[in-house]
Amino acid sequence: MQVNKQVSNELDRAATKSSVAVEYQHPLPPLQDKFGRTFNYVRIAVTEKCNLRCTYCMPEEGVDFQDKEKILSAEEIMRVIQVLANMGVRKVRFTGGEPTVRKDIVELVAGAKATPGVKSVYMTTNGLLLDRYAADFKKAGLTGLNISLDTLQEDRFLRITRREGLQKTIDSIQLAIDTGLSSVKINNVLMKGFNDDELPAFCELTKNWPVTVRFIEFMPFDAQQIWESGEHFTSAETMVRQIHDLYPGVEVVSGTKTEHHIFKVSGYAGKIAVIPAFTRSLCVNCTRIRLTADGSIRNCLYSDDEYDVRNLMRSGGSDRDVEMVFRKAFSDKYVDGWEAKKSSVQKIDISGLGTRSSMTQIGG
Ligand code: SAM
Ligand code: SF4
Repeated sequence: MQVNKQVSNELDRAATKSSVAVEYQHPLPPLQDKFGRTFNYVRIAVTEKCNLRCTYCMPEEGVDFQDKEKILSAEEIMRVIQVLANMGVRKVRFTGGEPTVRKDIVELVAGAKATPGVKSVYMTTNGLLLDRYAADFKKAGLTGLNISLDTLQEDRFLRITRREGLQKTIDSIQLAIDTGLSSVKINNVLMKGFNDDELPAFCELTKNWPVTVRFIEFMPFDAQQIWESGEHFTSAETMVRQIHDLYPGVEVVSGTKTEHHIFKVSGYAGKIAVIPAFTRSLCVNCTRIRLTADGSIRNCLYSDDEYDVRNLMRSGGSDRDVEMVFRKAFSDKYVDGWEAKKSSVQKIDISGLGTRSSMTQIGG
């Protein structure tokens, strides 16, 4: 904490001095934390709104969305991406809420991909509107899509998402593959009593589909609807054991930094991954930055600490000021998500919502 404070103070002083005296230079030193982690990946929530109401994410009714003017504009998002690209960020992911409900989503993808330094642009989506956008996304340079799908059963889809759309989502996965994106992944939040019995069926999707099926641990960001009961958590360890039981001797392969456990069944087209999102054994490899739809930096999913970029930009802050607030956010980063949960405080409540409790407010 002491080291943390010192670094923050130094950066505060540097930021104050720099906005007056130091010229903005390109390229900038990389964004690093005090544990030696370098950040090259930004996840940007572009909206809090969504066309589904997944039980593990949003309440069914009474969602208090923020006023439109509090959400970052396309220009503001592009400006942040440019500053970050200058600091070595190479990968951008758009998420939300549901990013495809934002009308300018194709322009955002194209703009991010055209930013010097940015190598790849991804999106996490529920896929429901993909038929509208797939070809344009490809043209705009989208590298890959993660499509969320938790069940292959119609009645369960309705129960989990509170909306219809199973076939549409399945068609979207096929469309994403046919569109020729470099990476198509399926995100499945595996929950006891909801869909955990479908792990084998989802593993079998990798037989013919060249996709990675990612089983994600349920996290306590569900607007306090079901996490509290403690009944629905399935651990990464349990998922890994089930995969080994299903496919004895399954090949262990490599994946991204958070795909801690990743497998390929011999002769199958795709891969299977397990993401320890709650048990947090992945934090040591963390290279990501999060920006909420209303323009706050979150240096960890489990930390309530926030650093306001929106008001900084809107009150005339320079690119150098934006850079320094990112540097400060990362000098304050905790060693892992456990420490973050214990030590963080809600510093700035710009949203007026209090502590963010749903993934749509944090940015999934
Ligand atoms: N609407 C898009 C979608 O569903 O893919 C993007 C936003 S969503 C918040 C991003 C990811 O977070 C999805 O894969 C979703 O399943 C996951 N997610 C949401 N709430 C979660 C929770 N409480 N625990 C674990 N994952 C969660
Ligand atoms: Fe919407 Fe995605 Fe949250 Fe489901 S997980 S409610 S699709 S933002």
